[in-house]
Amino acid sequence: MTDFRKYPPFEEWHDWTELDAKAWPDKVEKNYTLVPTTCFNCEAGCGLVTYFDRDTDEIVKIEGNPEHPASRGRNCAKGPATINQVYDPERILYPLKRVGERGSGDWERITWDQALDEIGARIRKAISEDRNNEIMYHVGRPGEEGYTDRVLKAWGVDGHNSHTNICSSNARIGYQSWMGHDRPSSDFANAKVIFLISAHLESGHYFNPHAQRIVEAKAAGAKVICVDPRLSNTGAKADFWLPTWPGTEPFLLLAIARLLIESETWNESFVKRWTNWETYLEQTRPDLPVEWESVRGAMLDEYAEYTPEAAEQKTGIDTDTIREIAELIGEHPTKFASHNWRAAGAGNMGGWQVARCLFFLNVLTGSVATKGGTAGNGMNKFKPAAPIGAPGITSWNELEWPKEFPLSYHEMSILLPHFLNEGRGKLDTYFSRVYNPIWTNPDGFTWMEALKDESKVECHVALTPTWSETSWFADYVLPMGVAAERHDIVSYETHAAKWISFRQSVFRRYAEIKGGTDGESADLGPDARSYDYNPGEVWEENEFWIDLSWRIDPDGSMGIRQWFESEEYPGKPVTIDEYYAKTFAENVPGLADAAAAAGQSPLEYMRDRSAFEVPADPYEPYERAVDPSAVEGCLKDESGVFRKPGTPGTWSGDLDDLDDLKLSPLGDGSPAIEIDGEIKEGFPTPSKKLELFSTTLAEWGWPEYATPKWIPSHVHWEDMDLAGNERILLPTFRIPTLIHTRSANSKWLNEISHRHPLWLHPEDAEMLEIEENGLVRITTRIGHFVIQAWRTEGIRPGVVAASHHMGRWRLEEDKARSWGAGKASITNDGTTWKLKREHGNEPYKSDDEDTERIWWKDTGVHQNATFCVQPDPISGMQCWHQRVRVTPAEPGDEYGDVVVDTAKSHEAYLDWMSNTRPSTNGLRRPFWYARPLKPAATAYRLPTD
Ligand code: SF4
Repeated sequence: MTDFRKYPPFEEWHDWTELDAKAWPDKVEKNYTLVPTTCFNCEAGCGLVTYFDRDTDEIVKIEGNPEHPASRGRNCAKGPATINQVYDPERILYPLKRVGERGSGDWERITWDQALDEIGARIRKAISEDRNNEIMYHVGRPGEEGYTDRVLKAWGVDGHNSHTNICSSNARIGYQSWMGHDRPSSDFANAKVIFLISAHLESGHYFNPHAQRIVEAKAAGAKVICVDPRLSNTGAKADFWLPTWPGTEPFLLLAIARLLIESETWNESFVKRWTNWETYLEQTRPDLPVEWESVRGAMLDEYAEYTPEAAEQKTGIDTDTIREIAELIGEHPTKFASHNWRAAGAGNMGGWQVARCLFFLNVLTGSVATKGGTAGNGMNKFKPAAPIGAPGITSWNELEWPKEFPLSYHEMSILLPHFLNEGRGKLDTYFSRVYNPIWTNPDGFTWMEALKDESKVECHVALTPTWSETSWFADYVLPMGVAAERHDIVSYETHAAKWISFRQSVFRRYAEIKGGTDGESADLGPDARSYDYNPGEVWEENEFWIDLSWRIDPDGSMGIRQWFESEEYPGKPVTIDEYYAKTFAENVPGLADAAAAAGQSPLEYMRDRSAFEVPADPYEPYERAVDPSAVEGCLKDESGVFRKPGTPGTWSGDLDDLDDLKLSPLGDGSPAIEIDGEIKEGFPTPSKKLELFSTTLAEWGWPEYATPKWIPSHVHWEDMDLAGNERILLPTFRIPTLIHTRSANSKWLNEISHRHPLWLHPEDAEMLEIEENGLVRITTRIGHFVIQAWRTEGIRPGVVAASHHMGRWRLEEDKARSWGAGKASITNDGTTWKLKREHGNEPYKSDDEDTERIWWKDTGVHQNATFCVQPDPISGMQCWHQRVRVTPAEPGDEYGDVVVDTAKSHEAYLDWMSNTRPSTNGLRRPFWYARPLKPAATAYRLPTD
């Protein structure tokens, strides 16, 4: 059999010769230099290798990096398609400044110097006037490990805003409420039962590294269970496809949990050792003695209603299948690997209980960070400390962390325009960074209104590799690199191991290699910038932030510049080489030794390989023995937890006693727990155990959800008019070959994927009188959109679905073109907005002759604009699923029409805000909760007015 896993030997990467495939049948040799980097097209951070033609100095192809421990040389289609993004004829190559009205689309080219001077002066003024928190950095896909946090700390700005609450807030709080860690890290490769709540195998989080391991496990006999109302390719490959009613997944999971407990196929010894069952009994069953023998009965009582028969009625999955799956899971203790990230978690109010109930099965089977189980992200992810620190921040930004959501995971970014409308604050300088909220977020027209209003957003700087709907409404559009043009460190919990990967400007690295002598790379010197080597003047954020910080504080008097100065070249900004050389040499265990063994510096080692597996034992870290010296001076409480003085674990509760309180990035600072006479690491939760009963949820206003429970969704089927034309819309699924915004600038990806059908079951189609390929009007609470139907039995009747990866548009015929954005017009009358698609993709002339060969038309429908904000009152997650009316298109309706009334958006916002329960204990948020850019404890005190 042909081995397709052959890669050029690493030793020959600097000088590699192979036959030119395009010259076949002639045998023509081509000489390349291979430079590795890290993919930036989704969160998995797979390794890539770029092939530089040494004659033309151009990249001719991009393939997988076999040195990368997670992706192991393999990629999905989006990785190699990075080459399309690099050479896209419509990419932004130079810094631009708006010259007309905001949104008019008129720009002038400026220099980086001008951009830095002008933006730096604004920020300097804001900080000088104590308006630090009017500076906001709003990140889409971060794809890096905390570099920007360092910058914001140095500026003293609590301005980190993320896309998390349109993505994963629900999953995070579900996992975090068990184990402190807010993401799952599944050891699929060694599992016997794999339980996926999503189309995970083909398009989930970290899906290429995960997919290859799921397939390996399946080949070794593991059973795959896929819960998804839609028959995705994952469902088709699974041993069990369970098309539950949306939002009823926790009910199904609790029915399985109950069967495990009832049949005594649970891992009793694990649950007894590692859950806070004593607290569970004390809080839920004060009538019972606090002894282990009470637990089984208490849990069977608590989950009495979750019978297989009730689960069949509620979820639509038959009783026999539920029993069969429970038996299968019970047969494989410690080997149950599960995963939920978006999907049901992101779709439903209360969707955070999907992750909480799913991980309950891991707890019951003792499959927590075991070989073949599911760990927490912090157990496998490796985040090197920044070698040049900066002091922590001491303020709190209420535009991101409002009092109504004390438990949100993380910033309430979907509500930002509503907060601006309410006058809760304004923004002096708003950086959108690889983020497109007008298109990606719900309620896009409310975003557009806010971004057009210069009294609310005084200056908008878009840091972006591509044109987007949002960058169109910026004042500065600054071109930032794609995977081949920027420096970042990346690490994710893709499997049972720790690794880091280095993203680098391969153009700059190629210049070093080509300019070197005697096998040594050339030194580009302290004044080198990546834009000197990248296409046009495309830059990267690392150097941009360094140089911008110098412009903010040119003489160092503000105390900012010191964090960005070079030790190697005094009086100059720190160089990228210096920063990463220090990181790799000092803060990555094992890397200096590996580099020395290879005869290289750690930086050269990483520039040549781009990835490194950090030596670690990934399994059962909570069982690790802790040296008694680590708990010296601690107080041991009655449950055996060692509490450190000066941390939240020993805090008096006095709000005036916060000045010296030390906060940890995660957990409450308690270093260990004594179990059966041994001091163990435990979990980063207040109890140091897995929290069957979450005291935090109970104490912060949600006692009814302190244990795993089902919360009826806002789109629960029993509450809907299914006999009429009401249906549940699933708008969240991914297309495996597309990214949100950036894939529109990849010709290959758009040629592969360019259809946007509404999935509709034939029974529904008949009932609703919708023809195959017929136009459908989907009416939401705030407006409607018009899409084309696709009759398929691959979806549960009562549910319709459309991917969130389609529907891109542009406003000018000849500007911001791409391979996937249609030409549209927008009209506005009061609070009513109409987006009309004028045409889809069409061929056009450009520097790339392939633009004249565009044969596909469909660009899809911008459905997200018709969704109001629906924040889960606990996690803050946008509950994406929609209660909609599905009707045949009306006279005058055209494909792609979008109509929205932002007054209705505001009403909906107020309704959802009324579900919240603001903090009543004087604090903004639990100290032990993770938070990007965690401030000092004093900032947690709520104002008393
Ligand atoms: S899964 Fe695909 S898009 Fe994501 S990092 Fe890997 S190659 Fe890139």
